[in-house]
Amino acid sequence: MAKKTPENTRMIKENAFLVGVDIYNQHNWLTVEDSLEELSLLADTAGLDVVGETYQSLSQPHADTYIGSGKIEEIRALVRETSAQIVIFDNELSPRHQRELEKRFLDEVRVIDRTALILDIFAQHASTREGILQVELAQYEYRLPRLTRAWTHLARQAGGGGGRTGSVGGVGLRGPGETQLEIDRREIRTKISNLKQELEKVRSHRSRYRLQRKRSQIPTIALVGYTNAGKSTLLNKLTDASVYVANQLFATMDPTTRRVQLPDGHACLLTDTVGFIQKLPTQLIAAFRATLEEISEADLLFHVVDITHPNAQSQWQSVQETLQLIEADQIPCITVLNKIDKLTNPETAETVISSFKDAVAISALDGMGVSNLLQVAEKELFFRYIPVTVFIPYQHGRTISIFHEQGKIDAIDHKRTGVMITGSIPFRYLNTFEPFFKLQDEIEDAEENGFIENIG
Ligand code: GDP
Ligand code: MG
Repeated sequence: MAKKTPENTRMIKENAFLVGVDIYNQHNWLTVEDSLEELSLLADTAGLDVVGETYQSLSQPHADTYIGSGKIEEIRALVRETSAQIVIFDNELSPRHQRELEKRFLDEVRVIDRTALILDIFAQHASTREGILQVELAQYEYRLPRLTRAWTHLARQAGGGGGRTGSVGGVGLRGPGETQLEIDRREIRTKISNLKQELEKVRSHRSRYRLQRKRSQIPTIALVGYTNAGKSTLLNKLTDASVYVANQLFATMDPTTRRVQLPDGHACLLTDTVGFIQKLPTQLIAAFRATLEEISEADLLFHVVDITHPNAQSQWQSVQETLQLIEADQIPCITVLNKIDKLTNPETAETVISSFKDAVAISALDGMGVSNLLQVAEKELFFRYIPVTVFIPYQHGRTISIFHEQGKIDAIDHKRTGVMITGSIPFRYLNTFEPFFKLQDEIEDAEENGFIENIG
């Protein structure tokens, strides 16, 4: 978003003015002030200078301009006073809101919302082929319904690069008219469908790679947590990955995986993920797919929480909600309370730490508590067994041998089409055996109906 001047490489920062709207009765984890503070950090991450902010409380958004006309007047004056070039709404704007607002601001500023800002940050940080494609796709999908003459130039810019595309910045030249607009729309639709195809190719390659990793049977721990909690710092502490650490939101976009040695000699893989954030639009959750898939296939999660953050509890909550959304809430999870080096008052420390159940407190920065965390993880991954009854068809021979090698068998019964095993498996194999779980009455039913027959 910061633009390079042609004559030198110095970055000129654009001025941004932030607008929050507090809608009564709308479920929100953060107060409008806290949410604006987060938006401000996002804007900073995107390379903007935040020059002012305001908010309005409403019972519901206005149909055409989202906020009221008095507020619009007020913002227009503030925008002039602060020489803002861009107005960022904390709430999601419809294409219509956005167009109407730009009109009311007399086209003196660009109006964008949180989603566009996050997309821009993603575009700046994506580094793998898949990450870049994902962001590009999300940007086009976001833009398509918003494509007006003012946007056409931007759309071309994004299309040309094939890399770090489409800053929300840059005032475009106006296109010649509606016909041109329609051509642009068609071009974007073609781009979208090409990008989707290309993504499928990259993805199938990656899932093959992941399959290989699964076969090697090294369990994976995924680091999840609110953005800025200290996930990358912890990964660096535990490995020599040297993952980019920054006091910025979404400093990392793509999953990074490293091997970690556990205290009792076992190995595991540790994978860093993108930070979670409240009000993450579903469109962006789709853009996160690479990262999220890593999470849902992990054997264990470290949910890293910045214990010193005033909203630590609600951040924890919003991450849990996203985990549910991607069906990763079944995976065993250790809450990791980070940054305890910053808790200088022992009493406060105790109070905040005890407000989380079954958590491990650490400092990813100075390493305090980290070896304890690894012990807990090793216990969880390698020494905890859960009782199961499974029916595994013979064509899944590999899974049957995993039970023999890794599990403890109490009873085994060879049927005509597969094998019924009662016993226990290490927790980390939960995902492997889950498709074969059988409840006792299900089994009896099946036997009665002849679906499962004994051999001979
Ligand atoms: P991520 O977004 O969860 O990956 O967070 P990062 O690892 O990038 O860390 C965000 C910021 O918090 C950085 O400025 C880190 O230096 C800082 N940080 C991370 N862990 C600790 C810690 O244990 N103590 C302190 N004081 N700061 C930390
Ligand atoms: Mg990170």
